[in-house]
Amino acid sequence: MDSHSPQRPRHTTFAVDVAGVRVGGGAPIVVQSMTNTDTADIAATVAQVRELAGAGSELVRVTVNTDAAAAAVPRIRAALDAQGCSVPLIGDFHFNGHKLLRDHPDCAQALAKLRINPGNVGRGAKRDTQFAELIEFACRYEKPVRIGVNWGSLDQELLARLMDANSALPEPASAQQVMREALVRSAIDSAARAVELGLGSERIILSAKVSTVQDLIAVYTDLAARTRHPLHLGLTEAGLGSKGIVASSAALAILLQQGIGDTIRISLTPDPAGDRTREVIVAQELLQTMGLRSFAPLVTACPGCGRTTSSYFQTLAQSIQEHLRARMPEWRRTHVGVEDLAVAVMGCVVNGPGESKQANIGISLPGTGERPVAPVYEDGVKTVTLKGERIAEEFQQLVEQYVARSYPRRASQ
Ligand code: SF4
Repeated sequence: MDSHSPQRPRHTTFAVDVAGVRVGGGAPIVVQSMTNTDTADIAATVAQVRELAGAGSELVRVTVNTDAAAAAVPRIRAALDAQGCSVPLIGDFHFNGHKLLRDHPDCAQALAKLRINPGNVGRGAKRDTQFAELIEFACRYEKPVRIGVNWGSLDQELLARLMDANSALPEPASAQQVMREALVRSAIDSAARAVELGLGSERIILSAKVSTVQDLIAVYTDLAARTRHPLHLGLTEAGLGSKGIVASSAALAILLQQGIGDTIRISLTPDPAGDRTREVIVAQELLQTMGLRSFAPLVTACPGCGRTTSSYFQTLAQSIQEHLRARMPEWRRTHVGVEDLAVAVMGCVVNGPGESKQANIGISLPGTGERPVAPVYEDGVKTVTLKGERIAEEFQQLVEQYVARSYPRRASQ
């Protein structure tokens, strides 16, 4: 699967090269994420970048908010390179980015892209000079820039100007419409200013993030119609757990389906001791379930019901999904196309055989009251019936054999 599906015409954009990762210009939609470590803590940040990259994040953003953080960035880059992790790093700058880049040129050098927020580069007369200074750094170090507008930090002077102009109209638009227009205008005007300052159009990515689904859809639909810069898509402050996943998926799916969005981030608030890689997996699963990209085999599992009264079925479905993800780093290196593998784990005879036959390999477990046997289907044909205590292990073995047999080995293997 790729993003050139004729069913999904893409918003036409420039292609931006982020240290070898192509964003826009019809390239596959790029998954990115952001660390939540203190960037000045080099060991913790390196470890988390590696985790995110290992989970499949193709770009990783780090906060650069202090001198210590800026000084740490080149050392983080060096440590990652030494450990064989080449994922491009993006620096996230607010308020003092111009000063940090001025004082830490090797930080600018080590970053693959700069993210700047036109709403907080400076106030009054300083706004334009500090924005210009940031763009000059991007030009000097030949770095692409994301101009990332966020309605939590929207340029208040621009908003006030648009509100005043709107209130003078015979039929003023709603405050919400003016807010949306201010977001889009801030992104577009800032991009035009960056181009005037000498930054090539092919070095600019735009975003205009909001935290509600309908606003995000409206803002990005408008933005896509008014610019050819690639768009970074994400619902900002999406929230915790299922709410964050549902809201992000609802908004992003509608835009992606219209061909809008060249790189995505799912901004989930992790549990206190939660795994940061969750945002990467959700982003991948969103793209994969929409048929836009493939990253790792997905398990089709039924929800279970009164016919599956033990937890055995849920445990098996979960262990198979975890096994597939754990095997993917090696399989990706060794077998062509394995990310498209479809596996079914079904709870009983009602839909089990039918769904299992649709998958590449599927198992229909015994429901309550059924004979304790589990038929396995491969490419639509029943191949074996498992029984006894080791059904999970034996099914994993069958999946391994299926992969080895069905996906060609890469030439270098
Ligand atoms: S396949 Fe069986 S166990 Fe699963 S939801 Fe359907 S009826 Fe219930």
